[in-house]
Amino acid sequence: MSQPERLTLLITAFNEQDVLPMLHPRLCAQLQALVGSVDGRILYVDDGSTDATWAVMQLLAAQEPRVSVLRLSRNFGKEIALTAGLDFIDDGAVILLDADGQDPPELIPQFVALWQQGYDDVYGTRLERGGDGWLKRFTAAVFYRVMGRLSKTPIPADTGDFRLLSPRALAGLRQLRERHRFMKGLFGWVGYKRIALPYRREPRLAGSSKFGFWKLWNFALEGITSFSTAPLRVATYLGLFTAAGAFGFAAWVIGKAALYGDRVAGWPTMMAAILFLGGVQLIALGLIGEYLGRLYMEAKQRPLYLVDTWQPANVAVSAPS
Ligand code: UDP
Ligand code: MG
Repeated sequence: MSQPERLTLLITAFNEQDVLPMLHPRLCAQLQALVGSVDGRILYVDDGSTDATWAVMQLLAAQEPRVSVLRLSRNFGKEIALTAGLDFIDDGAVILLDADGQDPPELIPQFVALWQQGYDDVYGTRLERGGDGWLKRFTAAVFYRVMGRLSKTPIPADTGDFRLLSPRALAGLRQLRERHRFMKGLFGWVGYKRIALPYRREPRLAGSSKFGFWKLWNFALEGITSFSTAPLRVATYLGLFTAAGAFGFAAWVIGKAALYGDRVAGWPTMMAAILFLGGVQLIALGLIGEYLGRLYMEAKQRPLYLVDTWQPANVAVSAPS
């Protein structure tokens, strides 16, 4: 009888000491239910938490041999923490979940079923965003709309990081080593056979969201600049249109002066033109700066993260059934 394929549940956590003990039994229950069909593991990544998260993780690993734990040297942010986790999965498929229970583990069997039907990237799309206020919902809707128009890489709307990646999709994703990591876009870039799995996003179990408004705004900028150069083109067109407009206007001014003479008026028009052009130039410069800054970060070739501690699961070889 062939060995069941490996499946790792990857959870990144930053200051989640209260929710991990609530989530863990639910994950274990799902793995238990899947015994025989997959060889389930759990990998917790501590993204430099400052509370007792790491101690909690070690406790869980001591209780449950299928748990591996990884601690990063400091807080690198969720995207990098996920990347680190993915790097440490050496075999099989992976499911990414949030630590706060917003991605219900009870859906794991459905993800696995789709994987076993041959899908490589099963992504959860949110039917409802439980616990999110109207502002977050609205800005998220606008963001996905804009991204969809600007990016050539397909990025499905209302899709978070809750998803299953098959071994080959995981291997593909591992090859993308860019420093500015917009995971939603990277998943899309990988491609293969993809399918959506709609689900209801639960409110957080406890603790508070790590993504405030400012962080989300930066996240949106990251997404747009990582996956599209359209804003640079916008700057070009803006420049072209203002130049054409200025040219027409100049012709009109010169013509008027030639026909009727010039009585030195037009201070307001001049100021308006100067301010407008100045503004346009600053916008264009800022845009170029955004991309240049990213180029600079990329050129430094730093490692994406540093590992503090790696503690692999305790199961040497899974017992053949
Ligand atoms: N997270 C992380 N590193 C960070 C911030 C967040 O690993 O720097 C984790 C966090 O612990 C949680 C997940 O990312 O498991 C989603 O974070 P959160 O629930 O705060 O975001 P929201 O669901 O509000 O978008
Ligand atoms: Mg959350």
